[in-house]
Amino acid sequence: MSASSVARYIVLLGAPGAGKGTQAELLEQALKLPHVASGDLFREHLKNETELGRLARSYIEKGELVPDDVTIAMVRERLSQPDCAKGAILDGFPRTIPQAQALEDMLADLTGGTYELIPIYIEVPQDVLLARLGGRWTCRNCQAVYHELFNPPQVPGVCDECGGELYQRPDDTPETHRRRIEVYMEQTAPLIDYYREQGLLVTVDGRPSVQEVRTALLAVIRGGEHD
Ligand code: AMP
Repeated sequence: MSASSVARYIVLLGAPGAGKGTQAELLEQALKLPHVASGDLFREHLKNETELGRLARSYIEKGELVPDDVTIAMVRERLSQPDCAKGAILDGFPRTIPQAQALEDMLADLTGGTYELIPIYIEVPQDVLLARLGGRWTCRNCQAVYHELFNPPQVPGVCDECGGELYQRPDDTPETHRRRIEVYMEQTAPLIDYYREQGLLVTVDGRPSVQEVRTALLAVIRGGEHD
């Protein structure tokens, strides 16, 4: 099989506020791979008041992680859809080591064992994360993410992409931000070492502008550089 026909799954790793969602949308356009965000999948379930949504709500509102079994089943269902057969840009999943192991199992299963996994760590210091999380606005319709200072929409309150209404997520409060960063440090940061030990990890500096980070991400994805 030629390299271009191997399904490519890009895993964006980084703390809440590192820019995973913003960059995933840009990569989706550049690479023509679907953006699969576990947080967006949960928010769809909340909006549609499904059983899964009811189960996940209390965790999300507190900034805690939804249990692995529920999260893994939801992502597996999404990755089984035909548009993910050539790969996907994963944003917010995996967030624990068991989720990372489950991802490997499900990709082996769904692709017949031929796939490339590219974990990219978008590194941003903690003080910058808190500042970014503070001014975040999300499109109610297409989930595009903006920041009132660092990445503002052209018209305040209106999505550049689809004209949808921008809102602040209910879990975008200072207490939840602190808790989400703590949960990230405890449960998700170990994934950085997990992928580094496998020789797969790529690190990109997440502090420069949205466009500069995008350029750096595309360079490592296309160039195949590793840490
Ligand atoms: P996000 O939009 O990625 O910041 O996710 C919002 C919230 O959804 C998180 O704070 C968690 O409560 C939940 N969530 C999203 N992805 C996961 C995951 N992979 N594992 C567990 N919980 C998750």
